[in-house]
Amino acid sequence: MGHLVIFSAPSGSGKSTIVNYLLLQNLNLQFSISATSRLPRGEEKHGVEYYFHTPEEFRQKITNGEFLEYEEVYTDKFYGTLKAEVERIINSGGNVIFDVDVVGGCNIKKYYGDRALSVFIQPPSVEELRSRLIARGTDSLEVIESRVEKAEYELTFAPQFDVIIMNNDLDTAKAEALKIVSDFLAE
Ligand code: ADP
Ligand code: 5GP
Repeated sequence: MGHLVIFSAPSGSGKSTIVNYLLLQNLNLQFSISATSRLPRGEEKHGVEYYFHTPEEFRQKITNGEFLEYEEVYTDKFYGTLKAEVERIINSGGNVIFDVDVVGGCNIKKYYGDRALSVFIQPPSVEELRSRLIARGTDSLEVIESRVEKAEYELTFAPQFDVIIMNNDLDTAKAEALKIVSDFLAE
């Protein structure tokens, strides 16, 4: 039976970087592609980073009961995990890795219990988050400010996770994540 590994953190903490690193290791992990109503950023493609939908399409999927969990992470910007996506990965014999917001992460952990490991990526500070988002260069200053504003609240969720990894030095955080996830999958 497949296992589930959940990564959550405020935007800019480095969770996509760490998740992408883990996907390259020999851990039989497959990324759970979420659905979202935000627009693609840069080179993002439908069915790769996300399934992109209009807010109307997203609301229809909510009505149809297609989500394991969903959140309106920012105003009018929905993000959610499709039940069919998790089934697809489990049925193919893989372990699932999620990159979801803190509330979604807690909900998925509650749903799967011991089959899931929830990991919180802790940034060194809110100021450092802002700098990373500016340096990433993928969002407008307005979007960055709304993400930073939300970060203080999101950081209060850290104690609810199974493990907290501090992402100050990236290589150290990657090594720690690899060890923790490998150990969990070997249980
Ligand atoms: P998230 O998925 O949490 O929003 P990203 O993985 O996109 O965050 O990281 C945000 C930005 O910060 C990226 O440009 C990434 O390269 C950079 N970054 C990640 N970890 C570190 C780190 N330890 N030190 C400096 N920059 C980092
Ligand atoms: P971004 O717009 O930077 O890709 O993601 C914004 C936030 O939405 C991040 O915190 C990301 O982890 C979260 N997110 C992505 N997919 C999902 C999902 O399926 N469910 C929930 N609850 N949050 C998600």
